[in-house]
Amino acid sequence: SLSDRLSGVFDKLRGRGALTELDVRAAMREVRIALLEADVALPVVKTFIDDVTTRAIGHEVIRSVTPGQQVVKIVSDALVEMLGSEAVELNLGVTPPAVIMLVGLQGSGKTTTCAKIAKRLAEKQGKKVLMASLDVARPAAQEQLRILGEQTKVATLPIVPGQQPVEIAIRARQAAKLQGFDVLMLDTAGRLHVDDALMGEMQAVAREGAPNEILLVVDALTGQDAVNVATAFGSQVALTGVVLTRLDGDARGGAALSMRSVTGKPIKFAGTGEKLDALEAFDPQRVAGRILGMGDVVGLVERAAEVFEQEAAEKMAAKMAKGQFDMEDLRTQLGQMKKMGGLGAIANMIPGVAQAKKAMANGQVDDRILGRMEAVICSMTPKERGKPEIITAKRRIRIAKGAGTTVQEVNKVLKMHQEMAGAMKKLRKMGGMKGMAAMLG
Ligand code: GDP
Ligand code: MG
Repeated sequence: SLSDRLSGVFDKLRGRGALTELDVRAAMREVRIALLEADVALPVVKTFIDDVTTRAIGHEVIRSVTPGQQVVKIVSDALVEMLGSEAVELNLGVTPPAVIMLVGLQGSGKTTTCAKIAKRLAEKQGKKVLMASLDVARPAAQEQLRILGEQTKVATLPIVPGQQPVEIAIRARQAAKLQGFDVLMLDTAGRLHVDDALMGEMQAVAREGAPNEILLVVDALTGQDAVNVATAFGSQVALTGVVLTRLDGDARGGAALSMRSVTGKPIKFAGTGEKLDALEAFDPQRVAGRILGMGDVVGLVERAAEVFEQEAAEKMAAKMAKGQFDMEDLRTQLGQMKKMGGLGAIANMIPGVAQAKKAMANGQVDDRILGRMEAVICSMTPKERGKPEIITAKRRIRIAKGAGTTVQEVNKVLKMHQEMAGAMKKLRKMGGMKGMAAMLG
């Protein structure tokens, strides 16, 4: 696996302080092979490696892990980020019916995915859903969707033999509107290859059907080919997202990275089986893990980082307890603070603090609000507290529930933390205030 390979590269480098350019370039050769083996498209690999190289050079190596493990963590973080750290939901916030159109190659799983999404919207969100098959190219395609509708207890548009896709789309819209459906799903005809006639048909349907979402359905096993597919479809219609099917098989996930990179659109769902409830919100962490085949190196480095931070804080506390942070240190710091415009000015440079102060002066902040913010933080797991950037939309909902408050409130706390962390970084860069920065973490 990649982590084994990287350990090999880095064994001789163990114990260095920061990753040098030479270290990183050696590691990137291994990462490159791993990505290609996972079927990530070549141009995507190139961009990715360039990005990660820049990030990794000069990065501190945490004492209790090897540089190789550290690089894997950096690569994994970059992968997760590139795959889309935030879950993106379907956009249903329109005057009903919201129209979701599925496009993709033949056999990619469009019809199955259509039924899966419909089932999910009906069962989990109580939506009234209508499905319509526009696939007149393949005999029995419309019948296939009708049967899936029966299985999922989702309504399907009655089949009118001889109608063309655009006509069906128009009829489906009218029916959905008249009969008060919340969501209309348009399942389109398959394409064996990207061909002009079918592309033209797809564009016409997209015009008449006026979809809010055009989801490209891609078989994760397609690997490298997925890029050509995505490029072709993306150039013909305005895709809003991607569904990756067959992630239950031994697809190594490379298609996911390519998709995200080429279309620039979020991967909204993953198909994980033939059954009609085998549809999951896309999980970037898991796919990143698959691509790198790296076991729990990421977890290991995260734990090591936590221990490291704790050690640093304890050291500082011990120093203060021993009185090593003496008056002379304090004087130097006060001098620097004065130069920067005094304590008040420093507080005002920290956006979160400035806002909080203003709010307090206006009487908007009282102990109850502070208590609520504390509850929000308490409702986070230790990992989330240590690394707030992993807090996805899904996690926010859980945290809000746990704290008995709203997602908006959770967002506020996260934003405040982010602003303060940013300000701390700035302070640290200005140098001099090392003691203060260390105390504040
Ligand atoms: P379409 O031509 O794009 O409409 O593809 P279909 O929906 O008819 O699916 C083609 C085949 O792929 C069917 O046998 C499905 O059961 C299967 N399939 C679809 N999605 C998945 C998935 O996520 N995992 C697995 N294992 N099979 C899938
Ligand atoms: Mg189909």
